[in-house]
Amino acid sequence: MKRVYNFSAGPTSMPLPVLEKAGSEMACYGNAGMSVMEMSHRSKAFLEIIQQAENLLRDLMRIPENYRVLFLQGGATTQFSMAPLNLFRNKKADFVHTGQWSKKAIAEAKRFGNVNVVASSEDKVFSYIPELNPATFSPDADYFHITLNNTIYGTRFTQLPKVSVPLVTDASSGILSEVYDVSKFGLIYAGAQKNIGPAGLCVVIIREDLIGGALDICPTMLNYKTHADESSLYNTPPTFSIYIAKLVLEWLKEQGGVPAMQKINEQKSALLYDFLDDSILFKGTVTPKDRSLMNIPFVTGDAALDDKFVKEATAAGLVNLKGHRTVGGMRASIYNAMPVEGVAALVDFMKKFELENKNK
Ligand SMILES: *Cc1c(COP(=O)(O)O)cnc(C)c1O
Repeated sequence: MKRVYNFSAGPTSMPLPVLEKAGSEMACYGNAGMSVMEMSHRSKAFLEIIQQAENLLRDLMRIPENYRVLFLQGGATTQFSMAPLNLFRNKKADFVHTGQWSKKAIAEAKRFGNVNVVASSEDKVFSYIPELNPATFSPDADYFHITLNNTIYGTRFTQLPKVSVPLVTDASSGILSEVYDVSKFGLIYAGAQKNIGPAGLCVVIIREDLIGGALDICPTMLNYKTHADESSLYNTPPTFSIYIAKLVLEWLKEQGGVPAMQKINEQKSALLYDFLDDSILFKGTVTPKDRSLMNIPFVTGDAALDDKFVKEATAAGLVNLKGHRTVGGMRASIYNAMPVEGVAALVDFMKKFELENKNK
């Protein structure tokens, strides 16, 4: 069967060379005589894999020496609890509320302390990034939390807030898509299934001095120190996901690294945004200055026509374009593994659909 262009928000497309390499090594990895998924997580071969994965990520993101990289489980969602459990001292955090994911992060932090929502874009279905007023920030907050790229609504922070406390971010759908200055953050976390690899792995990048002060009630498995002390091998990590992530990071390096990927992502998203801006049938739902490079929601304004579009696109090999139920319409997620050709095919299809349906 022919592979389709998969615009899913996550899990989603993987680079084909990675799938092919993994396929060729599936039954026998190097001269190990077994698959990576059959190996002890303490074997020499696996220790090399996890070390290489970390080295590649450090190299690709230029992660400074005083940051630790952790390979954890539980998805980004578990980080909504881990961040407050580990960083709370005054039990206070500032949050910018930009969608469903920040809502969940706020709800978890509230279980352990006080949350100050400094700004929200809920009034317009999270279609923009709200202006921030530093006068509303809490000087004694333990951290300031943002969702860098809002997967569901298609917005992204193009500028980081200037804060005097550690900046914490959920970077699940933005990590490795554009250059981040890691030194500006205290903690970055990201579920792997958008831009890093298969589900089951969550990557945490944390400044060293923030490790070791967890609340007394913090369970062992949710303590960053547990995982930092044991180099992510306190218990069995998601070994196969880490191996595939390593292959993705190698692929990313071959593409020229994050700056090269950012260029391609700017090109890909511009292709779609330019079409949306000119279209008489489709329109984007996000304030132009806050548009995501990764997730692009759009609508026709007619729910029945949206359904028809999604159905016909699927038949044409352009799949998973249905929008999130809270936004309606369509959403094209175009992470690193989506080639320019995939976006071009989508735009061509949209042009054709527009010609056929514009008078309805
Ligand atoms: C996908 C996503 C999550 C949820 O990740 P899980 O790994 O399923 O827990 C959280 N935040 C953002 C921004 C996401 O895109």
